[in-house]
Amino acid sequence: LETIMIIILRPGTHIDSADTKTVIDFLSSRPGITPQAHTVSGTDRTLTEIYAVGDTSALDPQEVSSLPAVERVVRVSREYRMIGRHADDDRARGFTYNGIRFDQNTLHLFAGLCAVDNRENVESMMRALKEHQLPCTRMGAYKPRTSPYSFQGHGTDCLPWVFELAGRYDIKVIAMEVTHDSQVDEILETLNACGHPTGVMLQIGTRNTQNFELLKAVGRQRELPVLIKRGFGITLEESLNATEYLANEGNSNVVFCLRGMKTNLGDPHRNFVDFSHVPTVKHLTHLPVCIDPSHSVGSRNRGVDGLLDIMHVTAQGIIAGANMVLVDFHPNPQQALVDGPQAMLLDELPWFLEDMQIARQAWEQRVALARNNLTSP
Ligand code: PEP
Ligand code: MN
Repeated sequence: LETIMIIILRPGTHIDSADTKTVIDFLSSRPGITPQAHTVSGTDRTLTEIYAVGDTSALDPQEVSSLPAVERVVRVSREYRMIGRHADDDRARGFTYNGIRFDQNTLHLFAGLCAVDNRENVESMMRALKEHQLPCTRMGAYKPRTSPYSFQGHGTDCLPWVFELAGRYDIKVIAMEVTHDSQVDEILETLNACGHPTGVMLQIGTRNTQNFELLKAVGRQRELPVLIKRGFGITLEESLNATEYLANEGNSNVVFCLRGMKTNLGDPHRNFVDFSHVPTVKHLTHLPVCIDPSHSVGSRNRGVDGLLDIMHVTAQGIIAGANMVLVDFHPNPQQALVDGPQAMLLDELPWFLEDMQIARQAWEQRVALARNNLTSP
């Protein structure tokens, strides 16, 4: 039976160090055991972890613990060995990318264009973000479209000027979907060529959640973090297993995004909003959880209370502990080439931020209340 033993090395033990090599060599010498070394970045420290995969029942935890630089040994039998939370596993998780911290306690807004159209609109969007000191955005260059006759995105051609503008407006992270592994190389090459004025979080779209070869390719590169959308017509377990591919290939800097399910039971919303799963995913995994209210709701429908449905579901996700909000905005939605009807307007940005803040404070108060009411074990 294949099981996993996670061997956590002492802080400061580098993945290329002699101590790490000693542990790997010890494990390699055991029949049926394959060691995999990973670097995991926490809030204030970076850890090297070695995963012993195979029939680990033959390994003596005492003996493994006595190897140089070993701090702790955790046995894992659960499915989500890389992204999952395990018993006795209180390691701080999350990651920092381009100066921005992502974990299960942070909250970041990624407001931006569903698809890059022209320079004026991209610049207006980024200018508005800078005015509000928002360092993250979304900008689609490669768009997966239902119809081959729809605008497919400007692709690689727009990357140099989008990155250059992002640098000018202090944008640190752009969420950008990739639909093919060649696009990852194009993004990395362009970032290099223009001197890294900004950073990119690669986005796996809901139509590609189970595109395993794309997941493997994106997981093999460790420079850029990854946002993976829940598949809109598969189980949560299947989506989490897909996410496991990224981490298993070596990239654990992953955010999991809820974006609604295609059931039609949630009509008239574009997708059935599934933000009640924010706490569920935070419980099952150590990943930061994102919500995408735009692709969930799919319209600018406004309730009788004056709030857009997009704002309502955003608040529902945040009050449940969401760590990131990916939302479509557009300076001029009539001009948008993709998803104009669901875009929020630039002058709604301050309102949206204030509304988010109310929900965030409510979440913080709810967490404090729970802490006060939990009897200590
Ligand atoms: C998007 O975020 O632009 C997008 C296409 O989302 P999804 O993959 O969730 O449909
Ligand atoms: Mn879209």
